[in-house]
Amino acid sequence: MSESKTGGTLFIVATPIGNLDDMVPRAINILHKVALIAAEDTRHSGKLLQHFGIATPTTAYHDFSDDTKTAQLIAKLQDGNDIALISDAGTPLISDPGYALVAKARAQGLRVEPIPGPCAIIAALCASGLPSDRFSFEGFLPAKPAAKSQTLAALKTEARTLIFYESPHRIEATLATLVEVLGPDRQMVLARELTKTFETFLSGTTSEVASLVAADANQKRGEMVLLIKGYEPPQEEGIPDEAQTMLKVLCEELPLKKAAALTAKLTSVKKNALYQWGLEVGL
Ligand code: SAM
Repeated sequence: MSESKTGGTLFIVATPIGNLDDMVPRAINILHKVALIAAEDTRHSGKLLQHFGIATPTTAYHDFSDDTKTAQLIAKLQDGNDIALISDAGTPLISDPGYALVAKARAQGLRVEPIPGPCAIIAALCASGLPSDRFSFEGFLPAKPAAKSQTLAALKTEARTLIFYESPHRIEATLATLVEVLGPDRQMVLARELTKTFETFLSGTTSEVASLVAADANQKRGEMVLLIKGYEPPQEEGIPDEAQTMLKVLCEELPLKKAAALTAKLTSVKKNALYQWGLEVGL
């Protein structure tokens, strides 16, 4: 369906996830000029709007908004009014309200325009050091222990980087479940308080991150994103020729342990596998 030429535009406007300087100029301009701002929590967003001197009228739009509220906003758009949708922080619809409104607007042929900006998933991923070429955002894990374990078990062999949102009062239990279900050695990152004063990235294995969080109450505070390295199948096919040659050459100058560590850095082969192979062939 092509977009209507007569109706208003629904703008999906990202707002800061902590640092107000991350508000993009286009977002400020749009919020100034639309007829109405639909906000997840009008009181919460009131502070942001006040900070940027935006006096546009607001209305509440959240996940509990019924069809009538969605229909009212659609009618305003059809009457030619531009509306901006914002959430409490970050990009609307990303674990935030708005899906029903956007789907309805599109179904009616109305124009929907994104105003991109902050989003905790992307901020966490791009600075995490974990593979970013392919990832799977899984939202919040279930709160109940059995459902949480089941969800993680179903993702255990997912090869893409996994990303979850998590709340501070569940972080310790969730880390314990990660250790239990994915094992103690899976690489992960806990990204906390992004763009804020106490921004922290904790990297390590699931068991290392769980210990760091258990030992430091500060690591349980604030907003957080969990990133987990995708599943890597165990290497069963032996050591590739290129790694064998490299290890042999390096062993002419270095002890096996050091040569195996260097070869592991330069290839995708595990250090221990190289070391074991070196012992077997008498390097
Ligand atoms: N729509 C938002 C976005 O674009 O990121 C996410 C909204 S979701 C309701 C809130 C969750 O996002 C928090 O519980 C936390 O997991 C994550 N989050 C939001 N801001 C964050 C920040 N500054 N640092 C780390 N995580 C954050």
